[in-house]
Amino acid sequence: MSKRDYYEVLGVSKSASKDEIKKAYRKLSKKYHPDINKEADAADKFKEIKESYEVLSDDQKRAQYDRFGHVDPNQGFGGGGGGDFSGFGGFEDIFNTFFGGGGGGRRRDPNAPRAGADLQYTMTVGFEEAAFGKETDIEIPKEEECDTCHGSGAKPGTKPETCSHCKGAGQLNVEQDTPFGRIVNRRVCHHCNGTGKFIKVKCGTCGGVGKVQKRRKIHVKIPAGIDDGQQLRVSGQGEPGINGGPSGDLYIVFHVRSHEFFERDGEDIYCEMPITFAQAALGDEIEVPTLHGKVKLKVPAGTQTGTKFRLRGKGIQNVRGYGVGDQHILVKVVTPSKLTEKQKDLLREFADISGQVPDEQHESFFNKVKRAFKGE
Ligand SMILES: [Zn+2]
Ligand SMILES: [Zn+2]
Repeated sequence: MSKRDYYEVLGVSKSASKDEIKKAYRKLSKKYHPDINKEADAADKFKEIKESYEVLSDDQKRAQYDRFGHVDPNQGFGGGGGGDFSGFGGFEDIFNTFFGGGGGGRRRDPNAPRAGADLQYTMTVGFEEAAFGKETDIEIPKEEECDTCHGSGAKPGTKPETCSHCKGAGQLNVEQDTPFGRIVNRRVCHHCNGTGKFIKVKCGTCGGVGKVQKRRKIHVKIPAGIDDGQQLRVSGQGEPGINGGPSGDLYIVFHVRSHEFFERDGEDIYCEMPITFAQAALGDEIEVPTLHGKVKLKVPAGTQTGTKFRLRGKGIQNVRGYGVGDQHILVKVVTPSKLTEKQKDLLREFADISGQVPDEQHESFFNKVKRAFKGE
């Protein structure tokens, strides 16, 4: 999750045209080409620039990136993240603020625009909802710019003043005597908490913070085919930017509930179908539930337990639109446990006619078993 935003890497806006992206790429790739630029991290930067361009210059990849964020090519997108999904039901407000939002070791100009932090939201959806997609509203607690002071933190009619302790720099030089001599440490100014500003008369609504906590309703289109652990990016719905910087993004991580009858593996669905001994022996047409409604399946005469059938296209749609999976059916022949006297009589008669070997095909197997017991 520490990857930088591709748009940020190329220094273009999210609505940048193909031409703008190309221009930005040409300029930056020249600047950081390892043959030209001898800075230590030039090669890494060049790689990052190249990767960003590869995605943003390709319409399909760009659309996907806009929708899902960074993709791990080995895992499909999203993926992993297991640790966060423990015991919850329904919509869950598990919130983490991660990356973005400034911070980091290097202190920057406190007045420079900074992007807002990204937010992560874990959403539990039903098996069918994940398969077919759904539109829904979610409510997330969100920091928003205070309407009263428009983010300045100062009471309307007043202005934040420059912090007199750090002269607006947001940090102070602290001199310290050490056994190695006098050293100068830069520390965040604690009078202004690094903002470089001093608010004399605080805004009554936000108490001088410039932001307020609100619950915000966001309309979410869950794409058909989303799978457990995958994520969706909702651009610009993270925390607001600082000093006019862009908002962060909201990442919705999906947890898909299990189904009582179906199991899912990627786009394919698996299920077991019990059939009677008579159906298996004589053959029958059975009804199989699928996500797309009931389907008739022909079970041929002589079907063994454990036989697999496949219903093409009755699985789940690929979340990126690449086709539809299949439904796999594993047939289980059920041995009756409660029999009437008449059924017993008929079965005894059946057994008498059949002899001890269940089937000609299995004769060699039974002979082997017999030999094994005789120690031959
Ligand atoms: Zn305010
Ligand atoms: Zn200060």
